Amino acid sequence: MKNTFTSALPDAQGYFGEYGGSFIPEPLQVIMDDITASYLEIRQEPGFIEELGRLYKHYVGRPSPIFHAESLSASCGADIYLKREDLNHTGAHKINHCLGEALLAKKMGKKKLIAETGAGQHGVALATAAALVGLECDIYMGEVDMKKEHPNVVRMHILGARVIPATHGRKTLKEAVDAAFEGYMNDPVNQFYAIGSVVGPHPFPMMVRDFQSIVGNEAREQFQEMTGALPDNVVACVGGGSNALGIFTAFLDDSSVQLHGVEPAGRSLEVDGEHAATMTKGKPGVMHGFKSYMLQDEQGEPMEVYSVASGLDYPSVGPQHSYLKDIGRVNYSSVDDREAIDAFFSLSRQEGIIPAVESAHAVAYAMKMGLGGEKGSILVNLSGRGDKDIDFVVEHYGREYGIT
Ligand SMILES: *Cc1c(COP(=O)(O)O)cnc(C)c1O
Repeated sequence: MKNTFTSALPDAQGYFGEYGGSFIPEPLQVIMDDITASYLEIRQEPGFIEELGRLYKHYVGRPSPIFHAESLSASCGADIYLKREDLNHTGAHKINHCLGEALLAKKMGKKKLIAETGAGQHGVALATAAALVGLECDIYMGEVDMKKEHPNVVRMHILGARVIPATHGRKTLKEAVDAAFEGYMNDPVNQFYAIGSVVGPHPFPMMVRDFQSIVGNEAREQFQEMTGALPDNVVACVGGGSNALGIFTAFLDDSSVQLHGVEPAGRSLEVDGEHAATMTKGKPGVMHGFKSYMLQDEQGEPMEVYSVASGLDYPSVGPQHSYLKDIGRVNYSSVDDREAIDAFFSLSRQEGIIPAVESAHAVAYAMKMGLGGEKGSILVNLSGRGDKDIDFVVEHYGREYGIT
């Protein structure tokens, strides 16, 4: 694997323009500085790059292919290609950064990986990476989410991770974040908090982006090989924003390539708490240790957010996205639950590919572009597969799609 982990942004303090940085207590800043220094050193080491490249190829199954979705394209007058991250080991792009973080933690001499998880996807990917590299793993999860997402809890147990229930408040993701942070502060020297997207204090937005950039690096080459040209458009869903930056990064300097980030409009963009469209509806502010666009209530607390895709309901977004929005390099818009579910069934029935409901947001946007008259090629990052979503989708939407 070529070392492409260098970029003008962020600056040494972790800023992308005015966004990013690190807003954390001083004792933790010392630890974070150590992680930054170690990462900057390790990412130059041929041994590290080779090891990660070997795992991407022989463990994850990279490179993931690009598939020309001809039937779907014909049905909406578009020309849609899919970057198949759904075919990765564990079923999504998350394994790309979990392996990078696990290898870094191991090299730094850490004993344990910890993280919070909402629906359990990040927890399973991290527990997988921990098992592989030989680190302990604690995953914090709301008690309510543990019941809802029971299969993922079982997976984490089988993989040898401890799943620690967050039992206060609403017992969901927000409480899991608090519990994980508390657990981390008990022993930040031996534990490594593996953040699950391009969010959090510096260096995580940079580091997770770098680990995900393999997606765009592969895709840019594959697409040119397939078609003789660059794509006219690249589309990805945006929760925290890791799969989007993963595919966008390779195309940032290609001015002919339009980049589109798709946020979840949930049930309604007009009602607070019914969407998670951070850049469409939010304002810049500081939360969870970094500055970015965010959705806040009147007290400045993170707003309740909602999407049918639990991987997308986060009240902020990676700081590089805020920067790319302000400079106009990426066009951010949103797709609601209904459109995403429709795309979920369209892709399943026209191409035989059941997407994650998160990824279905990107597919829906590409379909809308076609129906809106877009004639250029559209490369969609299909960030994950939908196995995890089938029971929920059939229970809530099955009848409308002829499933009884
Ligand atoms: C977690 C997840 C996402 C959202 O995370 P990003 O950091 O925005 O990429 C998107 N798609 C899938 C399949 C996921 O599991």
